[in-house]
Amino acid sequence: MEKTFRELGLSEPLLRALRDEGYTEPTPIQAQAIPLVLAGRDLIGVAQTGTGKTAAFAMPIIQILSGSDRRATKWGALCLILTPTRELAAQIGDSFKAYGRHERLKHAVVFGGVGQNPQVRLLSRGTDVLIATPGRLLDLMEQGFVKLDGVEILVLDEADRMLDMGFIRDVKRIIATLPKKRQTLFFSATMPSEVVRLSREILTNPKEVSVAPSATTVELVDQKVYFVQRDDKFELLKQILRGNAHGGKVLVFARTKHNADRIARNLVRENIPAEAIHGNKSQGARTAALSAFRSGKSRVVIATDLAARGIDVDGITHVINFELPNEPETYVHRIGRTARAGASGAAVSFCDLDETIYLHDIEKLTRQKMAVDEKHQYHSQKAQDAKKELEAGRTPHGVSPPHRRQGGNRGGGRFHGGGQRNRGHYRR
Ligand code: AMP
Repeated sequence: MEKTFRELGLSEPLLRALRDEGYTEPTPIQAQAIPLVLAGRDLIGVAQTGTGKTAAFAMPIIQILSGSDRRATKWGALCLILTPTRELAAQIGDSFKAYGRHERLKHAVVFGGVGQNPQVRLLSRGTDVLIATPGRLLDLMEQGFVKLDGVEILVLDEADRMLDMGFIRDVKRIIATLPKKRQTLFFSATMPSEVVRLSREILTNPKEVSVAPSATTVELVDQKVYFVQRDDKFELLKQILRGNAHGGKVLVFARTKHNADRIARNLVRENIPAEAIHGNKSQGARTAALSAFRSGKSRVVIATDLAARGIDVDGITHVINFELPNEPETYVHRIGRTARAGASGAAVSFCDLDETIYLHDIEKLTRQKMAVDEKHQYHSQKAQDAKKELEAGRTPHGVSPPHRRQGGNRGGGRFHGGGQRNRGHYRR
């Protein structure tokens, strides 16, 4: 029998907030992490977005800080949470607001891409929980607007993403200024060697908890592949959006910002309202697009992997891989955007001849064969045959995957940068 939130040791005000949120039972990462964090332990949590990991650290932190009489002084903070993207920072801020609604803690969120003055005003009063992206935080530190010598709890969120995005040096510079005596919580979806090294540097005698989102997500999501020629992908997308995905909330993945924009533009031209979300958009435009998606006002969002990383939108019914990722782990991240917190969802992947090798890599990772939908007018027999050749251990003719990772460091390392560098795969 799973433990209840009460049995994990959460206090009455938090239990009330959880009831308000409608959470009835802890997710596996919460069940494992909450008692350890409450006991003051350092922690490595191997879990990705969608597993409930934000609440797994936010709830016990709220309880610890509310129960102590220490308060942050001017420009100071008691808890620092570092996270790679502005969206994640904002969402973590929202979580603290929701779970802490019956306590009186102050939290502040700082990230780049917006004016710093309102953030400086918030910081000037001191804040119990400071949630920040590394670049903006360093900027503010250098100007003397933040003092981190009172930090008692540090959370490093999505450490592997920090690495991919080139933030590790900034993160290390920030951590170097914190008191050595503190509680540190470290979260990462994957543990490539550089992330393991970092964890060894900054944690003391940590407990490790890990949940297997890959397996659970993969099992919960109804997955299908459509073999299709590259030039027919757009028509197929239209057909799906007007057919079985009609009325749902759809997240479409493209490999580049450029392609995301182009797909969105072409859909709008076909009277299918759609918006692209990626790093080149202003913060205002991203926030507006996300809240329209969240409220259901817009149904179709086209995103790149980096931008989608922080999208926490409930009720996504379909994930469509317009282009398959060259990293099989990325596929698992993508389909995890649907089937959140135990709901079920559908993932549809378009696979052209050159992508058959990616599909093969994905199936090896998930240890599942994807169902093939051949009953559509754009079916490419050539791509399907190439996939069969790969399965038989032969090299199919005419397949030249544009961005296949070198070296096949499955499970160990992730790719280092370059995810957004490739262009022009999809032409219309
Ligand atoms: P996260 O992995 O932190 O991004 O959380 C994923 C989603 O699960 C968020 O939308 C949370 O609001 C939701 N969530 C977190 N914990 C629970 C829970 N115990 N029961 C139901 N939903 C939850």
